[in-house]
Amino acid sequence: MTKNIDWGNLGFEYTAADYRVTATYKDGKWSELKLTDDPTVHISECAGVLQYAQTVFEGLKAYRTSEGKIYTFRPDLNAQRLIDSANRLVIPAVPEEMFMEALDMLVKANEEWIPPYGSGATLYIRPFIYGSGPVIGVAPAPEYEFRMMCMPVGPYFKGGAKPIVIKVSDLDRAAPHGTGNIKAGLNYAMSLHAGEIAHAEGFSENMYLDAATRTCVEETGGANFIFITKDGKVVTPKSKSDSILPSVTRRSLMIVAKDILGLETEQREVLFEEVPEFAECGLCGTAAVISPVGKINDHGKEIAFPSGMEEMGPTIKKLYDTLTGIQMGTIEAPEGWIHEIK
Ligand SMILES: *Cc1c(COP(=O)(O)O)cnc(C)c1O
Repeated sequence: MTKNIDWGNLGFEYTAADYRVTATYKDGKWSELKLTDDPTVHISECAGVLQYAQTVFEGLKAYRTSEGKIYTFRPDLNAQRLIDSANRLVIPAVPEEMFMEALDMLVKANEEWIPPYGSGATLYIRPFIYGSGPVIGVAPAPEYEFRMMCMPVGPYFKGGAKPIVIKVSDLDRAAPHGTGNIKAGLNYAMSLHAGEIAHAEGFSENMYLDAATRTCVEETGGANFIFITKDGKVVTPKSKSDSILPSVTRRSLMIVAKDILGLETEQREVLFEEVPEFAECGLCGTAAVISPVGKINDHGKEIAFPSGMEEMGPTIKKLYDTLTGIQMGTIEAPEGWIHEIK
């Protein structure tokens, strides 16, 4: 049974599904996980999350396969990254087993919200932990809530993946050795203004360079870069100062490139100066898997990739088709990549 929803026309918007999973952290330990149908939270006006932005999150998806199975893709990496993010903001981590239990509970309880195979839509899952207890002196909150919610989201590319145009930002996303490598709301709050500027100027996204020297490519507000060289090598930027978020999609694409497609791969510092020499460019993240980039605008100077503005470049297309095939169960996954919800 699935809900009666026009799956193909869904966007990327919040919908309250029937259930969410919660747990609270008090007196040094996590409570049992609980399913609730209440989509609201009730916390202190002085909660750590409200006063000092003490919150971390994750994003992953559940897919319905052609055989009617329900797949999630490498959720152990999301669990581990949530632990890393939590540690950095002095938030008690949710152990991997607890994360996995919450995931199974959530997806099973909301089975009717998982879009049908072939609709292009998927179930987006958002785990998060935030300081719910009161703090006014700057300190970690005394209490926390872990919550995992989900919602159906539409096909990212309606009518095919059209390349986007992005700009080089004058504002920075992440400080060197700051919080750029964790998934925290605070990184997004400070990217909103730069995002508004880019959108007002007609660009889809910002390319951020390393904040210290502005010579190396880092990432966009919510996706990592991959580039394809003219001789077919797959290159992804390595940060000078550990300020790139370790994207699960990007890490998986690099493995797909090397082990399945037999391409050469490299993770290294990418100078902004060398970007015009690449043949293809894409942005990787859970939401779109890969968004092809057609052009990058650097203060009025345009870098146009040979792959053009009509469609994905051939190598990025191959990577995209292979990874989405693995996620949807039509291509055999490397060992341990699929966690089936039964
Ligand atoms: C979530 C995120 C990504 C993409 O990571 P995935 O695990 O592939 O979804 C990239 N950059 C930033 C800043 C992010 O927050």
